Amino acid sequence: MSDNLLWFDTMTGSQKLKGYEKQTDTYCPFCDRDNLKNILAEDGNIVLVKNKYCVLQDTFQTVLIETDDCHADISTYPKSHLYRLLRFGVSKWLEMENDGSFKSVIFFKNHGRYSGGTVSHPHMQIIGLKKIDYRQNVHHQHFEGIPIDINRNVEFNISTNPLVGFQEFNVILDEINQIDIMSDYIQIAVYYVLNHFNRSCQSYNIFFYHLNDRIYAKIIPRFITSPLFIGYHIPQVVDNIDQTVTKIRKIFF
Ligand SMILES: [Zn+2]
Repeated sequence: MSDNLLWFDTMTGSQKLKGYEKQTDTYCPFCDRDNLKNILAEDGNIVLVKNKYCVLQDTFQTVLIETDDCHADISTYPKSHLYRLLRFGVSKWLEMENDGSFKSVIFFKNHGRYSGGTVSHPHMQIIGLKKIDYRQNVHHQHFEGIPIDINRNVEFNISTNPLVGFQEFNVILDEINQIDIMSDYIQIAVYYVLNHFNRSCQSYNIFFYHLNDRIYAKIIPRFITSPLFIGYHIPQVVDNIDQTVTKIRKIFF
């Protein structure tokens, strides 16, 4: 058995399912602030809690509730909230890394039905992995691409060597004090995915990585995953990414 494998706790998984079945269509656990348990940190309406259903073995799962507005989205947050959220999220993620209890810590966001998310209220997840180092699977070349914009050494590009495909947007941050520029680029990528990319795309993921003193973000529009990737681990790229770069520059820069 590979030691780079995450075990799913089926007992907790079925409790999670039962918990969701009991809820009515209108009930949202992240709007029900009075009943939020295990709050780890707060900054205004941004709250970090321990996940109620820790389905992954040998992990510490936390949920970062982004706002008290159930229908908000990162693509339309006012700049002040966007910056506050990402500063808070990144600092909590790095704190967990420095804690020393984990082999590595992952920080990501699911949005929409094809993203793998179960609750629609805007949230992210920070998960400490006790036995797995994700950095074995992801390397700098997975963030190489055609630059869309570069500001104060922060690069926003579209992948020429994606992890999965077809189109992945990357943000590369060398200096943590330029994190607001990274946040701007993430917001642009998500806005583009939801509004200009493909009319049917309403799902995306944002993944953060900390490799060799750099912080990377990858924004991936989600559809049904390609069978070539599922079956053979072959990523695909579209042959017109130049046009996407031109289009994004025209809309946002
Ligand atoms: Zn909600």
